Amino acid sequence: MKIAILPGDGIGPEIVAQAVRVLEKLKADGLAVETVTVPLGGAAYDQYGEPYPEATRDVVRTADAILLGAVGGPQYDTLPRDKRPERGLLAIRKDLGLFGNLRPAMLYPELAGASTLKPEVVAGLDIMIVRELTGDIYFGQPRGIHVNDAGEREGFNTMRYSESEIRRIAKVAFEIAQKRNKKLCSVDKANVLECTEFWKEIVIDVAKQYPDVELSHMYVDNAAMQLVRNPKQFDVIVTGNIFGDILSDEASMLTGSIGMLPSASLDANNKGLYEPCHGSAPDIAGKNVANPLATILSLAMMMRYTFAREDIAKRIETAVQTVLRQGYRTADIYEAGTQKVSCSGMGDAVVAALA
Ligand code: NAD
Repeated sequence: MKIAILPGDGIGPEIVAQAVRVLEKLKADGLAVETVTVPLGGAAYDQYGEPYPEATRDVVRTADAILLGAVGGPQYDTLPRDKRPERGLLAIRKDLGLFGNLRPAMLYPELAGASTLKPEVVAGLDIMIVRELTGDIYFGQPRGIHVNDAGEREGFNTMRYSESEIRRIAKVAFEIAQKRNKKLCSVDKANVLECTEFWKEIVIDVAKQYPDVELSHMYVDNAAMQLVRNPKQFDVIVTGNIFGDILSDEASMLTGSIGMLPSASLDANNKGLYEPCHGSAPDIAGKNVANPLATILSLAMMMRYTFAREDIAKRIETAVQTVLRQGYRTADIYEAGTQKVSCSGMGDAVVAALA
C-alpha cells in the first residue's frame, strides 16, 4: 500500500499525525504500508509558491491512496485566487479525476446527545451522500467578475454537466445503494435549472441497469428540509457538486460534530483521496484540541474502498466505537459525565483500542 500523506494546514498536521499513528500500529502488526509525506495548500504555497506543486503532484499521481488533513487559513485569503490553498484542493481532485465523493453521515449511539436534533430523530442514522466532485458550477466556464453591457460590475458562474459525468457518478451511487438498503434519492433543482433537469433525465436512464434499487427524486430545497425533519428516510443520496457540498455539511451536523465525519473521493479505479469533511479549523489550530476521529475514520474508508480490506476498515471503526464507549471525548463532542481528551490523547486511546 503506497499512501501519500498530505497534512495540509491549520489542524491538518495534528489530526493527520493521529491517523499516521494508527497506520504505524497496523504496520507493526504486519500490514505492508509505505508512506510519503508532501505538502498541499497553504503549506505547499509557503514551501514552493504553489498550492499544488510538482513535487506533490509527482507523489500523489503514483500513490495508491492519499490521506489529507485539510487546507486553508486566514493568512492565505488575500493571495491571488490561483495561489490560494483551496485551489490546491480543487486541482488535485481534477488532476487525479476524483469525481466521486462519498460522505457517510452515521450517528454513533454514544453521541446521540451531541446532535442538536432530538435523539429519536437521529438515533440509528446511517446515510451515504454521493457528491459529484469535478464538475458543476465550481468548474464551469465561463466564470468571472466583469463589467456588463449596462456598465455595472457583475459576477457570474456556469452550472454545467456533461452526460458522461452524470452517468459515471450515477453508476457509483447505484452500486453503493445495491450494497446498502437499495434506496437512492437523486437531488436536483429540475424545476428551475436546465442543467439539473438533464441530470435527472440521465439518472433515470442509468436506473434501468439497476432494477433492484428504488430511485426517487427530490428538489434540493426540500432535501435540505427533509434532512432535518426526517433524515432516516434516506439511504443513499446522489447529487451534484454544489448541492452535495451544502447538504453533506448539513448532514454532518445531524451526527453531532463535523469532527466525526470522514470522506472519500474516488476515481474510476477506486484510487482515492481520503479526508475529514471539515476544514482546517484555524480557530483551534496548534492547540491540540481538534477531534482526529474523522481523519482516522477516513483511513478506515481508504482500507475499504481503495484496498478492499474490509477487515482492517472494521478494525479501525471498532476501535473508534470502543473509545467512544469508554467515554473519551474531544472538546467538540464533550458532554458532562464523559472524559475530555486532547487530540493526541484521542490518538492514544484509539491506538490502545486497536491493540
Ligand atoms: P472548518 O470546518 O475548518 O471549521 C468550522 C468549525 O468547526 C470551527 O469552529 C472549527 O473549530 C470546528 N472544527 C472543524 N474541524 C474540527 C475538528 N476536527 N475538531 C473540532 N472542531 C472542529 O470550516 P471553516 O471555518 O469554514 O473554514 C476554515 C478554513 O478551512 C478555511 O480556510 C476554509 O477554506 C478551509 N476549508 C478546507 C476544507 C478542506 O480542506 N477540505 C474544507 C472546508 C473548509
